[in-house]
Formats: sequence, C-alpha cells, structure tokens
Amino acid sequence: MSELNLILLGPPGSGKGTQGERLQEDFRLPYYATGDILRAAVRDSTDLGSTAKEYMDRGDLVPDEVIIGVIGERVEGPDAADGFILDGFPRTVGQAEALGQEMDDLNRGITAVLLIDVDDDEVVRRLGGRRTCVKNGHIFHVEFDPPKNEDVCDVCGARLVIREDDKPEVIRNRLAQYHEKTKPLVSCYSERGLLKQFDGKLDPEEVGNRIRALLATLKMEEEL
Ligand SMILES: [Zn+2]
Repeated sequence: MSELNLILLGPPGSGKGTQGERLQEDFRLPYYATGDILRAAVRDSTDLGSTAKEYMDRGDLVPDEVIIGVIGERVEGPDAADGFILDGFPRTVGQAEALGQEMDDLNRGITAVLLIDVDDDEVVRRLGGRRTCVKNGHIFHVEFDPPKNEDVCDVCGARLVIREDDKPEVIRNRLAQYHEKTKPLVSCYSERGLLKQFDGKLDPEEVGNRIRALLATLKMEEEL
C-alpha cells in the first residue's frame, strides 16, 4: 500500500495553499492546515482541543505536544489512511522530530517535503500590492488585478486601503521570522533526502504540474 504523506513548506504568498488544494483534489488526500485543525479540535471540544483552548484563552502559544497530539489524531484517522497533506506544521526542528516519532510509532514515514520557494522581493510584490475595500473587504492588486479607478472599489465604490498585514515592513518582518524558523527545518529534511524544491515564481499551474509529476514518480517507484 503506497501512501503520500506530504508536508508543504513555503513563505507567505508562495501559493502553497493553492497547491495544497490542488493536491487534495488530484490525489484525494485530506489537507490539514494546522490553524484549521486546531480550531476544529477546539470547536469539537476534544480532550486535546480543550487543552489547546486553555492556552489560547490565556493568549499563550499552544505547546508542541498538544499540537502534535491534535495532528496525530488526524493522521491516525481513517481519512488519512492513504496519506495526507500538512500545511503549517512542522514549523520547527523540534516539531519535525515529534512528527517523525509519531510516524515511526505508526510504522509510516513522510513521503516528501514540498518546498515552494519564492524570494522575499517577490513575496513583497505579491502581498504588498493588495488593496482591500474598507466596506466589504473586496480585494484588488495594483499589478495583477487593478481597480478601474485608483483606490476605489470596482464592486461597491468604497475606498481601497493597504491592510496592516500587507504593509511591506510587516511582510518583511514575517519573512524574517519565517526564514529564521524554516531554514533549520529545510536543512533537516534536505539531509534526510525528503526535500523537493519548486520554483514558486513560475505560474501556479506549472508548479502544480511539476509537483504532480514528482509524486507520480514517487508513487511508481514505491509500487515497483
Ligand atoms: Zn468593495
């Protein structure tokens, strides 16, 4: 039985969410974005969800062992029997080791770590060009989807602004944090031969095709 147990890595604005959704459709795998499954555990009041909620209510970070527990429950579940796509976890080497232990316990392994690489300037260009309508949140992009009139929403006529999160200095700060945490993780997976790098500057369609081609090869190799 060949599984596709995948981890998606990439900076904000790399389009990894889009790739995750495509993989989910193409390979019929569950897509676990960490934030979403953590919120779902809290909503469903599972034991771990309730523990996570205590930390969140205090404004503290949810500790690794709780997050790994929540992810473990999903990975062990029937939906993930043929594999899964993880997005947003692991973020640190410590989390990667905990996940590796969990997979060992299940007699499974990570198939591949897909890194969608985009340089910082491109991320700032992509995210920093967003303009959001103050009234209804309609989103435009100065370069890729410009409004007909500058700073005016085409849909409802409200003013367009740059959201706090889309300000270049805020984006660069997030990127600095991303690099600091992700670099050791990337080297760790690279040393284990699991890292597969994709040029996120390419058209998303092309990135998707390359990922699919790689996974088809990995599946075939495993079935031989
Ligand atoms: Zn609008």
